[in-house]
Amino acid sequence: MNSLRTRLWLSYVPVVGVALGVVTLGVVWYLLRNPLVYRQALLEMRLVAAEVDARAPQIIRMDAERRRQLLQRLADSFQGRVVLLDAEGQVLADSHPEQPPFWPWPLPAGKVTFRAQGQTWLYYRRTLGAQRSLLVIRPRPRVSLLAVLTDDLLPSLVLAGALALVLALVLAWAVARWVAAPLQRMAAAAEALAHGEGSPIPIAGPDEVQTLAQAFNAMLARVQDTLRAQRDFVANVSHELKTPLTSIQGFAQALLDGTADDPESRRQAAQVIQDEAARMHRLVADLLDLARLDAGTLPLRREPIDLHALLRGVQEQLAPQSREAGVALQLEAGPALPTLIGDADRLTQVFVNLVDNALQHTPAGGEVTLRAAAHGSQVWVSVADTGPGIPPEDLPRIFERFYRVDKSRRGDRRPHAGLGLSIAAEIVRAHGGTIQAQSSPGQGSVFVVKLPTVQPDDTTLHSRRPAEKEGA
Ligand code: ADP
Repeated sequence: MNSLRTRLWLSYVPVVGVALGVVTLGVVWYLLRNPLVYRQALLEMRLVAAEVDARAPQIIRMDAERRRQLLQRLADSFQGRVVLLDAEGQVLADSHPEQPPFWPWPLPAGKVTFRAQGQTWLYYRRTLGAQRSLLVIRPRPRVSLLAVLTDDLLPSLVLAGALALVLALVLAWAVARWVAAPLQRMAAAAEALAHGEGSPIPIAGPDEVQTLAQAFNAMLARVQDTLRAQRDFVANVSHELKTPLTSIQGFAQALLDGTADDPESRRQAAQVIQDEAARMHRLVADLLDLARLDAGTLPLRREPIDLHALLRGVQEQLAPQSREAGVALQLEAGPALPTLIGDADRLTQVFVNLVDNALQHTPAGGEVTLRAAAHGSQVWVSVADTGPGIPPEDLPRIFERFYRVDKSRRGDRRPHAGLGLSIAAEIVRAHGGTIQAQSSPGQGSVFVVKLPTVQPDDTTLHSRRPAEKEGA
């Protein structure tokens, strides 16, 4: 009884009942004012009038009593009254002289009825020559309610009503099923999701339910993505920690059991331990940054930034590395760049990371160009290299955490373990900007960072969480 389907279905019963009731009332009302009976009565009255008209000369010559008798006989033939009037409406002869005249004079034009003595009368008036006229009147015929109902009408109405009810209930059942079935599927899918499984549901039913199903499928996909990302994340972190920990353990063991017994091997062992510990430290620091960027709790300063000076700083910081790699590092930026509001250290981190990646991937003799220019209310900073580029299948994923293009280089000495670009993207996003990568194999890569020069509001640079709370 409580299910949506049953309720929808049963809600049709009163609707059908009301509709049938209204139709029945309409039919009964129509029959009570039966237009056929009414027309028939008018016809009879015209016939009587025609007869009087035809015998007019004879009637006028009759003495008063015979005339009254004749008129009365004609009037009785249709249960009405026949009256001869002169031009002023004075009664010359009357089938029922004992009743005083009660009709309005002049009679309402263009009508066949008038109201008098608390009821409606039908009348017909016909002129007899220039001086006289004939008036035929009778009460409007009535049909009794009982007669209407006991006629053949009631059984056929009941039958039609029952048929309509059954048809409506069958249709209503189909409609209720159409609405409720996708909802039931959704409920089942949501329950399955709570148990860790779940599959997309087919899009069916009315528009609103389809929208809900689409939203549900989108939510399902996101939940599944999040669960997968969480599993991958734990696996990646464990993997990244395992390699340095194994090294540290191995070299510490060598120091302890005396395998590394000369000062040089001891120094080497200590160096490896220090390097690996530093790498782990770096990884943990990156993870902490990401966690705080996710939670919106990474403190970001809001201060005016001279972008030109910032980029020159990046160029200087990486100059030794570019010299070592034999790659030219150029800065192309007009001095008249608009001022940004943001955290200079964090933005430096973003550009150092991009330029560092570019230098790493550009063979000797190549070029890395750092460009900045104003575009409307944004400033675009791009880092272009002449390296091998990024394969199209990897391009959409390089901002994912722990994603590395060359998986075989997992044990390499890169400091970020595939986290560099994801941290950069989060920092840019916290500044209200976007980051994109374009690349075609063999043509180098371009990373474009677009930052707003006018901050939409003061919350942009604080954590995203408070901004969301304010919006809520
Ligand atoms: P990491 O800091 O460990 O290099 P990133 O998140 O910075 O990780 O980069 C993700 C992946 O994108 C890396 O595997 C890297 O090889 C690739 N990548 C980044 N920049 C470039 C570039 N300029 N040219 C080619 N590949 C690049």
